[in-house]
Amino acid sequence: MPIITRFAPSPTGLLHLGHAYAAATAWRRARAAGGRFLLRLEDIDPSRCRAEFADAIKTDLQWLGLDWDETVRVQSEHLADYRAVLDDLTARGLIYPCFCTRADIAREVEASASAPHAPDGSLVYPGLCRHRSPAERAARIAAGEPFALRLDMARAVAAVADPLWFEEEGEGPIRCIPAAFGDVVLGRKDAPASYHLCVTHDDALQGVTLVTRGEDLKSATHVHRLLQALMGWPTPLYAHHRLLTDPSGRRLAKRDRAATLRDLRAAGVTATTLLAMMGSP
Ligand code: GLU
Repeated sequence: MPIITRFAPSPTGLLHLGHAYAAATAWRRARAAGGRFLLRLEDIDPSRCRAEFADAIKTDLQWLGLDWDETVRVQSEHLADYRAVLDDLTARGLIYPCFCTRADIAREVEASASAPHAPDGSLVYPGLCRHRSPAERAARIAAGEPFALRLDMARAVAAVADPLWFEEEGEGPIRCIPAAFGDVVLGRKDAPASYHLCVTHDDALQGVTLVTRGEDLKSATHVHRLLQALMGWPTPLYAHHRLLTDPSGRRLAKRDRAATLRDLRAAGVTATTLLAMMGSP
């Protein structure tokens, strides 16, 4: 089977060295195997994504010499795809509308004896809206109250029945524990769909066979694997890589302007030097 990898940045800022490392890792894996490398823009959040950053991403990748195959998939142009998945899960009783504000959730968590956190550090949703009646839901939606769509995790796990695993390169099969994430958001109040939904849908649609990405997203794979099982999507091989850090050991982030590829280029650093400096994963 031909190997298909992808680089899937969100255009919320300029790319830095950490992104270059992630992109180069995916590109090298595809090119070394005579496979395909795809570029996907995960711009589902209209408040944070900007067209100028999408353009800058392409310019930076071209400068690095990381050429991509096929047309760039731009998630905001495919909202109907994500809507169809949400509709399907709704029809199967696996997602429900959640009207909670952050303050509602914080109050509930404070009032309860425990506040479990998911493996990615996020707070597990306490379930306030899980058991609202169909009539209440319909009335609140009709009244125009904003709502998110949450996966009913217990039902979803029950629907797939078998224990789930994902294959991490160099590590072997990892047993999935999606329940530890609670009722994750699949449709956001402020965006038509969530990262978990779009990334899993698109990897399946685009036939991605190897997902390389930073190890900060490794825990999210537990949720992604569950969505794959629910939707009958294939499961790629995963290879989460280390994150680049600054000299003080802090993970590179978009706020670190000094490390943007644009600045490095302006300072006269060549793409060859930069790629050699980062080394292979
Ligand atoms: N869009 C995500 C990000 O920029 C990465 C998605 C992925 O590689 O799975 O962090």
